[in-house]
Amino acid sequence: MSKTAIITGSTSGIGLGLAHAFAAAGYNLVLNGLEANGPEIAAEVAAAHDIEAFFSPANMLDPAQIRQMAAEAEQRFGQVDVLINNAGIQHVAPIDEFPEQQWDRIIGVNLSSAFHTSKAVWPGMKKRGFGRIINIASVHGLRASEYKAAYIAAKHGIIGLTKVLALEGAPLGITCNAICPGYVRTPLVEGQIKDQAKAHGMSEAEVVEKVMLKKQAVKAFIDVELLAELAIFLASKEAKTLTGAALPVDGGWSAQ
Ligand code: NAD
Repeated sequence: MSKTAIITGSTSGIGLGLAHAFAAAGYNLVLNGLEANGPEIAAEVAAAHDIEAFFSPANMLDPAQIRQMAAEAEQRFGQVDVLINNAGIQHVAPIDEFPEQQWDRIIGVNLSSAFHTSKAVWPGMKKRGFGRIINIASVHGLRASEYKAAYIAAKHGIIGLTKVLALEGAPLGITCNAICPGYVRTPLVEGQIKDQAKAHGMSEAEVVEKVMLKKQAVKAFIDVELLAELAIFLASKEAKTLTGAALPVDGGWSAQ
């Protein structure tokens, strides 16, 4: 039987890249996200790689919708082998101007949703003695930058959650790891480039060079394909003793 993966936030950016890679590796998929054309995206991924996929519109801010997504996955595919907690949002502002609502939303989507998704798939993984949970954290789970209070708190938090699930999963055949990327050129980052260009009075090219990639030793955006290869490896049965790790894929940012 084919393996099944749930990838949250997979209608755009890194999540969509992961979806294509897991589909190419033969996984059946649950795609998820807020984009209105989610069902079409899921159908395209399925057709491109000859796998089965469906779209769940579950809002990662709503635990009941998350439970529904996990239940539907089990019902349609019989099992969930891999859960990738990827959905994420950003807001950039100094602490004294940081909107309370944005704090709550970012903690909700970037951190609490991973608790709810993991809790929902855990009994099935436990029963089958196999599970792989992969959290797309960030180099900002390991290092701080100014003006990103909520994002950095959430990403540090998800690395803590990763370690707890690794310990609890160890006797059950379940691993949990976090991938910590530097900058990847996705719609989330395109938005930041525009905002920063305005804030600093710079061109977008200057923002990329002088602001975004300043802390990376390798002055290049991280390729989604690299993140996907790593995630596929973490999901493999060979990776059974690789657990509880926060793996930087950050062009050397966290080496400093
Ligand atoms: P993106 O904006 O391209 O995609 C985000 C996805 O999350 C979309 O599919 C969106 O619909 C979904 N999403 C947002 N809010 C949601 C909600 N409430 N419920 C369900 N889905 C929701 O972003 P991306 O750059 O691909 O980021 C993906 C993940 O990678 C995020 O967790 C982000 O923090 C992390 N990350 C990104 C970078 C980067 O440079 N792009 C670097 C490090 C970590």
